[in-house]
Amino acid sequence: MWGPTNKLITCETCHGDFHSCCGHFGYLPLVLPVYNVGYMSHVVDILKCICKMSLVKRCTSTSSYLLSLDDIGFSISVSCEPVRKGRARGPIVLSEQIGSISPGPPTCKSLEFHGSMVEGGQLTFIASYSGGEKGGCFFEWFRVKDNGKETTF
Ligand SMILES: [Zn+2]
Repeated sequence: MWGPTNKLITCETCHGDFHSCCGHFGYLPLVLPVYNVGYMSHVVDILKCICKMSLVKRCTSTSSYLLSLDDIGFSISVSCEPVRKGRARGPIVLSEQIGSISPGPPTCKSLEFHGSMVEGGQLTFIASYSGGEKGGCFFEWFRVKDNGKETTF
């Protein structure tokens, strides 16, 4: 406990009352990071100083990197810390920044059916999308005959 919060209870740590307990340090694990409101104006000032284009930092240790939706609008740079077998390390070298990353063409990468292929069964599908932020995609169901002729519903 951090101390009594009113005059009616005693401190669980030092058993002092509201006047004799001077308070105790403690921590409360939060689900998400929270800014201290007392520092909010300073936090805003600092965030205003940071260029969005230079905020790229990803921790991958491979020599290739798959660009994702999160990377759009950012520049990319890579750093290399040379490490000798035996763990001796050399100075880190930082590449130039390339970019900015633009969204790819809107693409349906796959269509996968789910459900029962029996009358009365409900068919659904999962369409995986890539190419920037997804908008209102247009879907159309077709009934296909054996001869390949399609009819819409
Ligand atoms: Zn106390």
